[in-house]
Amino acid sequence: MTASITGAGSIAGIARESYRGIPLYSTPRGDDAIDLSDNTNLWGAPPSAMRAIASVTEADVTRYPIAFEPALASALADYVGVSEGMIACGCGSDDVLDSAIRAFAEPGEVLCLPAPSFSMIPVFALTNGLRPIAIPLTSQLDVDVEAMLETEARIIYLCSPNNPTGAALSRGAVEQIVERAPGLVIIDQAYAEFGGDDFTDLASSGAPVLVTRTMSKAFGLAGLRVGYGIGSPEVIAEVLKARGPYKVNAVAERVAISALQNDRLWVRERADEVVANRSRFRAELETVGIRSLESAANFVLVPVDDCAATYNALERQGIRVRALPGLPRIGDAIRIAIGPWEVMRRCVGALVASLS
Ligand code: PMP
Repeated sequence: MTASITGAGSIAGIARESYRGIPLYSTPRGDDAIDLSDNTNLWGAPPSAMRAIASVTEADVTRYPIAFEPALASALADYVGVSEGMIACGCGSDDVLDSAIRAFAEPGEVLCLPAPSFSMIPVFALTNGLRPIAIPLTSQLDVDVEAMLETEARIIYLCSPNNPTGAALSRGAVEQIVERAPGLVIIDQAYAEFGGDDFTDLASSGAPVLVTRTMSKAFGLAGLRVGYGIGSPEVIAEVLKARGPYKVNAVAERVAISALQNDRLWVRERADEVVANRSRFRAELETVGIRSLESAANFVLVPVDDCAATYNALERQGIRVRALPGLPRIGDAIRIAIGPWEVMRRCVGALVASLS
C-alpha cells in the first residue's frame, strides 16, 4: 500500500497532514458529527472540574501560576501513589514526552519506537533532531524486544495500552527492555485507566524510566492540556529542566487539582462503563461479521479494506473516526473511541451500512 501523505515536512504542516483528503491528526470541526476520532471522554468533563471552571477568579487570570506547579504535582502524586518529587507536569503529556526526548538524547541519536504506535513520537523525535527508528510489533502485537534493543537507541518509547492497536504490552517484554536498554525508556500510559498493567513501579526501580500519563482521556480535560510524567527525582529534574517553567496555565492547574481531589469516583465509573461498552461493541461487531482487535484502551481498532472509503461512508452518516492507512501487520484500519452505549449502538449500525 502506498500511502501518499501531504503536508509533511514542516511542523506547521503536521496538523494539515492528510491521506486521500482525510485528516490524519485530531481536527475538531465544531460540526454536529459524533466525534469518535480522538479517544477523549465522551461523557464530558467531570462535575467538580466544571464547577472549578465556573469559579475561576480574576487573580487566576491576571497572575502568573507558581513555576513548575507544585500543588498540581502534589495532587497527581497522591492520585498515582508516589512522592511529589516523582512528578513532572506539562502542557499535555505531549509536552512531557517532547521535553523528555530533548533531555535524554542529543541531536543525531536514535529514538526507537514500535510500529504502529503514537503518531506524534516520530514528530517529536524529528523536531529535536533525533533519528526515529520504528520496529514493527510482533504478530501478537507486543513489542519486539530484541529488535528494539539492537538499535542501541538512546531513548526507547513504549506505549501501553498502545495507540492505535489498543493492545496492552506484556510485563515480561517491558521489563526486559527496562533492564537492558542503554538509555531512557519511556512508557506512555495515556490510556492506563482503561486496562492493562500499570508500570508505575518501574519508574521507582532506579532504572532510567519515565511513565507518562494524562488528564486528557479518562479525566475528560483534553482542552485544558494537562499531562504528567512519573520517574525518579533524577529523571524528573532532567525533564523539567528541558521543559522550562510556567507551562501549565493557572486555570488548567486549578481545575485539574479539583478533578483529582473530587472527581475520582466519577472518572472510575465512566472508565468502567468504557470497559463494559468496549466488550459489548466488539461482541456486536463480531455477530455481524466485523473483526476488531482486542483492546485495553478506550478505543477499538477495526481492520478494513480501504480506510478512506470507510471513513467517508461513516462521515456521511454523521460519525467521525480516525482513518489509519497501511499499518504494519494490520493494513488499513479505522480507530473508534468508546463512549455511551447509545453512541456505540449508532456506530455499529453505521459500520454495518458502510462495510456491506
Ligand atoms: N500518548 C498517547 C498514546 C496518546 O494517544 C495521546 C493523545 N492522543 C497523547 C500521548 C497525548 O495526550 P495529551 O498531550 O493530551 O496528554
